[in-house]
Amino acid sequence: MNDDQLLRYSRHILLPEIGVEGQERLLAAHALVIGAGGLGSPAALYLASAGVGPITLADGDAVDLTNLQRQILHTTASVGRPKAASGRDALGRLNPEVRVVALEERLDPGRLAGLVAAADVVLDCSDNFATRHAANRACVAHRKPLVSGAAVRFDGQISVFDLGRPDSPCYACLFAEDATIEEERCAVMGVFAPLTGIIGTTQAAEALKLLAGAGEPLRGRLLILDALGMEWRAIRLKKDPACRVCG
Ligand SMILES: [Zn+2]
Repeated sequence: MNDDQLLRYSRHILLPEIGVEGQERLLAAHALVIGAGGLGSPAALYLASAGVGPITLADGDAVDLTNLQRQILHTTASVGRPKAASGRDALGRLNPEVRVVALEERLDPGRLAGLVAAADVVLDCSDNFATRHAANRACVAHRKPLVSGAAVRFDGQISVFDLGRPDSPCYACLFAEDATIEEERCAVMGVFAPLTGIIGTTQAAEALKLLAGAGEPLRGRLLILDALGMEWRAIRLKKDPACRVCG
């Protein structure tokens, strides 16, 4: 690290759990962020501010006025622009050292496989089950850690599927691939703005811990947040031997 980097990342370097070694791991890590919306915004901002790079930021949508209430990567001036490009520019302003690859596309399973194989950690910040399951399949196949988040109304969820470990559950152990009942309703439901910040920021925290080798990841546990009561619940997850993806 040069002098500027030692200053920029000094508050991480001062943490004994991260230190110079952990910070160097962050600087050398490649994160794939799927979705540049409510969850992907805070997640990508914290990864970039912490020096993680390259960051591959994938989103097939354009910025809409209704996004700005919670998708803090984007500004009023970004309305109409592709979210991936708008996000790349925002991350570049925050930390010009970090290389951000913007993919203006909704990732199909074939594309995901290649991107996941090249990543050290995958953050699922998408808003639909098809992408969630495709990301999970790719992470299972390539044994990559998957940091999965979801937020709708006042309800949030987050877990880490540490798929490099043979005993790790996967996303499909928790939500079977044919359980798509809620899909249609999600797109039109309300979302409490800071909820996406809380969950997306927690995803960044877990990704940084995994990459730096700090602390204990949220593996084998699902955290469920009721933001109205501001109560967290933790559920233990176990690998489903009958899971059609990882079993
Ligand atoms: Zn599974």
